[in-house]
Amino acid sequence: MEEEADTGVPSRVERKALQKAKILQRETERKIFRLVGKVLKKPESGRSEEEAAVLLLHRGTVEELCKRQVRRNVLKRKQEEVFDEADELRSKVRRLAAAVKQAKHLVVYTGAGISTAASIPDYRGPNGVWTLLQKGRSISSSDLSKAEPTLTHMCVRMLHKEKLLQHVVSQNCDGLHLRSGLPRHALSELHGNMFIEVCTSCSPVKEYVRLFDVTERTSLHRHMTGRRCSHCGSELRDTIVHFGERGTLEQPLNWKGAAEAAETADVILCLGTSLKVLKKYACLWCMNKPASKRPKLYIVNLQWTPKDDLAALKINGKCDDVMRLLMEELNIQVPGYDRAKDPVFSLAVPLRQEEVDSHTREVIARLDVQEDCIPDSGEQAEEATAVQGGWFGRGYGKGRRKKKKKKKKDA
Ligand SMILES: [Zn+2]
Repeated sequence: MEEEADTGVPSRVERKALQKAKILQRETERKIFRLVGKVLKKPESGRSEEEAAVLLLHRGTVEELCKRQVRRNVLKRKQEEVFDEADELRSKVRRLAAAVKQAKHLVVYTGAGISTAASIPDYRGPNGVWTLLQKGRSISSSDLSKAEPTLTHMCVRMLHKEKLLQHVVSQNCDGLHLRSGLPRHALSELHGNMFIEVCTSCSPVKEYVRLFDVTERTSLHRHMTGRRCSHCGSELRDTIVHFGERGTLEQPLNWKGAAEAAETADVILCLGTSLKVLKKYACLWCMNKPASKRPKLYIVNLQWTPKDDLAALKINGKCDDVMRLLMEELNIQVPGYDRAKDPVFSLAVPLRQEEVDSHTREVIARLDVQEDCIPDSGEQAEEATAVQGGWFGRGYGKGRRKKKKKKKKDA
């Protein structure tokens, strides 16, 4: 034994003892945490002398548990939806209107919050996809295919038409900006468009706009849609950029347009985005410029965003409410969405005869069919088409990965 000790390498017995001691120590610590936590939950007046003594004895644990509580409260506050009072909202929108009028180069960044009125749920709101899937509930795909551009989409399109807005950068895949009539050169769909599949074997990349969600067979790192290019016969892929992937397609992502717009922007208006993903794209924020030379930020979102502290103005309101007021202030009439003018119909490439059965997703009808003409497949259809993969799995995938990672860390 002595000889072994001299080498400086602990013997097997010593290593085992050490390990056992560590386990015992951890167990003791855990017990103390539980005990202190239990006492802290009681009101001060309700604690016995013995319990008060426990807190005094384990001050470090008390501090740690209090810190954790503070962190939990901050997190909770960040997830809460906040609404400005009507008067405050109106006065904030007046300030926004002034900024829009004065802007030389206005760029709008949009997220899931602008599509919630189109019954496309957002990701992190109380009824968001991520929240619902976490609770084990599914989302019906019929909700997605019936979605139409919202008032906010139409306002954004009018701002561009009136030359008050130069570019729109969206992280939404729902294609609703395009369908509102916003020209494609003024749009960057950073995470793709659910209606577009492409052939990357053709040069230049050949694009096929469809009248249905092309992503039903695709998911993270699996992008082939099952249809083929009518020119070269290669397999088509979707344009969706999942969390953790790098989008390299020129269109519909249009990174070049987004980067140029950010570079020239003097005002950026963020609508309905938590900015948790967008903040990571450095080129959208001109962080290489001194703070005084960066574009002024205006944020419309119900929840906290990581850019709130840097914003010239944060408006806590629903996008549709804010945009309605904004257009009133700017004296711009906004037409409702008109399906007959939806550009998706002129852009769409019809399926070849042998491809007609290559998908099961609902097709956007060119004309509004009378509700009573549609066979009532209601609940049954909904259950059958609950969204499994596709672009909608994105938020969920992220949530699960995060949780797994955390578990590993804790272990
Ligand atoms: Zn091709």
